[in-house]
Amino acid sequence: MLDLESATREWLDKDDRYLWHSMASYGAGKEPLVITGAEGSWVTDARGNRYLDAMSGLWCVNVGYGREELAKAAYEQMKSLAYYPLTQSHVPAIKLAEKLCEWLEGDYVIFFSNSGSEANEAAFKIARQYQEQIGERNRYKFVSRYRAYHGSSMGALAATGQAQRKYKYEPLASGFLHVRPPDGYRKPDGQSEEDFNLACAQAIEDVIVWEGVETVAGVIMEPAITGGGVIVPHPSYMKRVEDICRKHGVLLIIDEVICGFGRSGRKFGHHNFGVKPDIVTMAKGLTSGYLPLSATAVRKDIYEKFRDQQSYSHFRHVNTFGGNPAACAVALANLEVMEKEQLVDRSRLLGERLADEMAEWVSHPYIGDIRSFGFLMGIELVSDKATKDPAPLALVNRIISSCKAQGLIIGKNGDTVAGFNNVLTLSPPLASTDEDVAFLVRTLK
Ligand code: PLP
Repeated sequence: MLDLESATREWLDKDDRYLWHSMASYGAGKEPLVITGAEGSWVTDARGNRYLDAMSGLWCVNVGYGREELAKAAYEQMKSLAYYPLTQSHVPAIKLAEKLCEWLEGDYVIFFSNSGSEANEAAFKIARQYQEQIGERNRYKFVSRYRAYHGSSMGALAATGQAQRKYKYEPLASGFLHVRPPDGYRKPDGQSEEDFNLACAQAIEDVIVWEGVETVAGVIMEPAITGGGVIVPHPSYMKRVEDICRKHGVLLIIDEVICGFGRSGRKFGHHNFGVKPDIVTMAKGLTSGYLPLSATAVRKDIYEKFRDQQSYSHFRHVNTFGGNPAACAVALANLEVMEKEQLVDRSRLLGERLADEMAEWVSHPYIGDIRSFGFLMGIELVSDKATKDPAPLALVNRIISSCKAQGLIIGKNGDTVAGFNNVLTLSPPLASTDEDVAFLVRTLK
């Protein structure tokens, strides 16, 4: 039998030969972790090292790893009905759609896909088709924010406001416009946080008007920008955006791919701001990553416009695997765990605890700002607190490596082109124990 080190080397050699990774190109002394197991908030690599996964994989393992209930739900469902497309129907999808409407606290109809990108693509197509079918034939544009991430496909990437992710892939889908995000840390001196946020909302209205109201189909935004640096808006911001959308007949699409399912301390991120989106997209925490599944929730009266008998009014969009029965069964089991263990409340509690523990660190010479949204945190590193110049990437990477060496996985946001790659991100499982959080804080400090 090979010892752990030799076995790891073998996996890494094969990895290097056969596997193409997301986002990173390993080589020249850098190697991926080969993760072989996980339990709770902890993952184990092929060498037997344990790490607290304070990124929940890619912001998604909300209930934590190793949940038998979810594995059993998949097994039982696969035995009875492993697959059927939603061109017809099946019970797990019906049950889950009903459950999601309960969680959304609104009158929605659910379209299933497999990933966050696909959920957003479906949202864009639904918005354009809806506008067309109510007689608004020229409305095809969408307004988004710089620093936002909405996915990797040609439409979702066009909506994304991070230049480095688009490099070498353009032209993307057309009609996507971007405005300044409500980044309160970089607001002009002397302006209040609220006034700055309202000005950022006004920038959305200005674009809508300047582009021609009759050409704009929708606005897409996350409740708080997550991957772009944990930018949490002032409470007035989103309500103002909603008012602008209503005033101009523009659909408000909220991307809850990360903020949903308890991450923000409420069931959905937008519940913190008292708005009623027209379309809500979700993925990641929907199954806690146990199986791929995403959803596009559409206001019922919008959906009704796809139901009349005029030709081609239905949504002509097929997704072979979207709403896979086993994935739906896992999502239902996942939501059951979240309800039984009150993980939405736990998220709020742990988020407050983490924020309290870290608050004193804002006086550190290289920490410009600490922002949190439920159990989600961004720590913005600067090289100079007066100028707010972002800390160099090498420093950010050193902190991340140093945490890893001490058994803690944390993340960073990314827009290298704009110079913002300086926010450490934390998004631990909502089911983290008190000891997990204590370890996280201790190691990070
Ligand atoms: N929207 C947001 C806010 C995301 O963070 C992501 C992925 O990180 C996506 C959409 C795209 O999701 P996926 O990678 O499942 O396509």
